[in-house]
Amino acid sequence: MTIADNLHTVMGRISAAAEGAGRAPLAVTLVVVTKTIDVERIREAVAAGAAILGENRVQEAKEKIEHLGPLAPWHLIGHLQSNKAKYAVNLFDLIHSVDSIELAREIDRQAAKIGKVQDVLVEVNIAGEKAKHGADRDAVLSLVREVAQLRNMAIKGLMTMPPFSDSPEDSRPYFRHLRELSDRVAQEQIPGVSMHELSMGMSGDYEVAIEEGATMVRVGTAIFGERTK
Ligand SMILES: *Cc1c(COP(=O)(O)O)cnc(C)c1O
Repeated sequence: MTIADNLHTVMGRISAAAEGAGRAPLAVTLVVVTKTIDVERIREAVAAGAAILGENRVQEAKEKIEHLGPLAPWHLIGHLQSNKAKYAVNLFDLIHSVDSIELAREIDRQAAKIGKVQDVLVEVNIAGEKAKHGADRDAVLSLVREVAQLRNMAIKGLMTMPPFSDSPEDSRPYFRHLRELSDRVAQEQIPGVSMHELSMGMSGDYEVAIEEGATMVRVGTAIFGERTK
């Protein structure tokens, strides 16, 4: 199977999952995750229809973006350290991983310097796992309220990674919890805050995520194969 074949298979399954859940296929955006993937294979994916690319490390993304030029919009899907925020605001259309007010303030400060309003998602540690990044579920509403005060930043929704499992059904309750949390935040109608986007679902569980309301799925392995690094 080529990258194009895999990509088209994933796109077909996204559409089918959306339709099966009574949703419009266009309501789900595919973020093609290119971490560890070399630039030639990224080009191949874009030529086959990959419209948005996702990286989880700033430095790796920076090298690829400098090499590839303006190929497609890039999203940062991995954890961001505050000292990399100044690069991140230059590189990414959407940052999926804001999980503290300190990080948000630094992104805001760097975005202000370049006259940008940076779109972000708030990452939620939905299962309360010790080793995971993301805001605690109980802290999300107050974090959103604080971030909403920052002028060079716009919250577009929530992101999560459920606990690792081989069985996609294991992720369903976590996806549902994120959806419910998003609805709860949306009810508050905080000025400047949108809860339109729900970034959840990866190669193993994106169809379940779509059934539970994902508007963005982040898929790497199902398109490029197993990562070797
Ligand atoms: C690597 C990664 C993905 C993609 O995972 P696959 O299982 O390869 O599809 C999605 N989200 C994040 C945050 C990642 O780091």
